[in-house]
Amino acid sequence: MDLISLPASITNAVRKVLGNNPQKLHEPTFDGNELKYVEDCIKSTYVSSVGKYVDQFESDLTKYTGAKYAISVVNGTAALHLALKLAGVAQNDEVLVQAFTFVASASAIVYCGAIPHFVDIENENLGVDPIKLESYLSELTEKSSGVTFNKRTGRPIKALIVMHTFGHPSKLDELIEVAKRFNLIIVEDAAESIGSFYKNKHTGTLGLIGTLSFNGNKTITTGGGGALLTNNLGLASHAKHLSTTAKIPHKWAFRHDDIGFNYRLPNINAALGCAQLEQLPSKLENKEMLFKKYQSEFSKMNGISIFEQPSNCKSNYWLQTLILDNPNMELRDEILEDLNSAGFMSRPGWDLINTLNPYACFPSMELEMSTNLFESIINIPSSATLELIK
Ligand SMILES: *Cc1c(COP(=O)(O)O)cnc(C)c1O
Repeated sequence: MDLISLPASITNAVRKVLGNNPQKLHEPTFDGNELKYVEDCIKSTYVSSVGKYVDQFESDLTKYTGAKYAISVVNGTAALHLALKLAGVAQNDEVLVQAFTFVASASAIVYCGAIPHFVDIENENLGVDPIKLESYLSELTEKSSGVTFNKRTGRPIKALIVMHTFGHPSKLDELIEVAKRFNLIIVEDAAESIGSFYKNKHTGTLGLIGTLSFNGNKTITTGGGGALLTNNLGLASHAKHLSTTAKIPHKWAFRHDDIGFNYRLPNINAALGCAQLEQLPSKLENKEMLFKKYQSEFSKMNGISIFEQPSNCKSNYWLQTLILDNPNMELRDEILEDLNSAGFMSRPGWDLINTLNPYACFPSMELEMSTNLFESIINIPSSATLELIK
């Protein structure tokens, strides 16, 4: 019989892996050419939306991800907004999105004047549940002239956002099948999953468009930043055009042929990104090693387990994830209290978006698994810091 409580054994296990020093949830690390490239960028005076680092960063992103085109923008939310717009999402369309995600996945839909429609996730990949989605849509929708309509609201359902939770690829093959059957465009929110592959394909390259984030808490950072990935030349050019205020290139005239956005990633941020991307492989190695260390501790424990990359996937292990065997908010919060007081910054999963006031008015399926996972998930310190794994 265990004499020590679950929260205390979890904190002990984390301490065994990380040592006694306090740890953040996810800290950026700058161990390469960051200062050199940023200094070079400043000296060039090209710190804003044009410059060699932007071009280099976009080209490096295509090489790493295998996408034909990459368009860098100011952040992941802007990338998603633009991606949905390019996918043709317009006023009054519905877009399916998991309720268990960072709020930006849903706010980008609302920026388009469209309606987020919340769907449930499964517990093997933590992404949208394709089986549940298929039966839900079969009941709820009817097709007319090739467009899927929500019978209850009369609105067209245009797209499905596939998000790769904590860096673990969703069930893409199955979701692509469902999307085909209901004529839905797939936009991948790969904000958390740079370095994660689904059957050897980089996440964000399987849908029509994918988006990345380089915020400070993500696996690599440009301070703030994001990118769109696509294999479609027309979409890529359109993305670049709309993100540069839809200005028609000209030596001196300021003419705009559409309502565009000031969404281009500044060259100075891209300089940081080029240096970070060089270190992505070593960061991923560290993060996988950290997972293995946690795994060896948590595999001995009853009542909780650590989430491992799904089969056929290579995950970046952006955030290490503990899951209680049974949903229990009280126990979850005791564990969070214990870990955080010991200096190990830990947090629960996001509140389901449909439970947030500004989003409560939007349609939703029943969200049993999302609720269970919300009540059982704890993210623990996950930085790729070298010191952690010595
Ligand atoms: C971080 C994140 C975003 C937004 O990225 P920002 O660069 O912070 O705007 C979008 N979706 C998900 C799932 C994220 O985790």
